[in-house]
Order: sequence, then structure tokens, then C-alpha cells
Amino acid sequence: MESYTGICKHCGQTQIVKAESQEDANERTTLECSCPGGELERTKKHVREQLDVLIGELAPDNGWDPVRPEVFETIKAMADRIAENLISSCAMRVDGTNLKISRSKDKINIERSKTVRQGGSIEK
Ligand SMILES: [Zn+2]
Repeated sequence: MESYTGICKHCGQTQIVKAESQEDANERTTLECSCPGGELERTKKHVREQLDVLIGELAPDNGWDPVRPEVFETIKAMADRIAENLISSCAMRVDGTNLKISRSKDKINIERSKTVRQGGSIEK
């Protein structure tokens, strides 16, 4: 890793960062920036991490099946719109489970759930 002058892609503020490339440096600077754009990028990153845990590559560690990559991208895009406050909530059924992403005052809640029912009828 080398030192680069990263540029926040929202406000243009610069910062010296260690990075792999100029593009990587810009990404890092944007993620650390205190401007509203930087704050939004951080929110999206945290949302993405939570999606990884519930429906993405880390899902199996938590007892869930990961969704197909194209489905993940669709849900990620929806979650980004929620982070941007353009959509306030969405709920869907995916692979037999429920997924709900919603926005409250200062939080984004992401929840995956499934209902398991078991039982039988016995003739008497
Ligand atoms: Zn910025």
C-alpha cells in the first residue's frame, strides 16, 4: 500500500491515505469524510454488512441460506434507496423466508425471519 491523496467524491475534501490505488484512496477518503455524502456512504456500508450476514456470503454462518447473487443485488439496491430516504420500508418473501428493511427516525432495521410449524393430526 502506498500513500495517496484521496478525494471525497461528494465534497472534494482531500486526505492522505494508504491505499492500493487512486480509486481505492478516493473510496477510503469518502468513507471517512464528515460531509453528508460520506455519512450516507458509511450508512450504506453498514447496511451492506448486515445484508451479507442475513442473505449474503456470511448467511450460512448464521443459519440462513444465501440468496442468489442477482437477488442480493436487487435487495442491496432497495436497501440503498432506503438509506437515501427515498423508500421508507420494504418487505418481501425470498426463498421461503421473510425479509423486511425499514427506516425509523435514525435507524435502518433489517430483519429476516422464517416461521417453522410442525405438527400432525392423529386419528382416534
Ligand atoms: Zn466529503
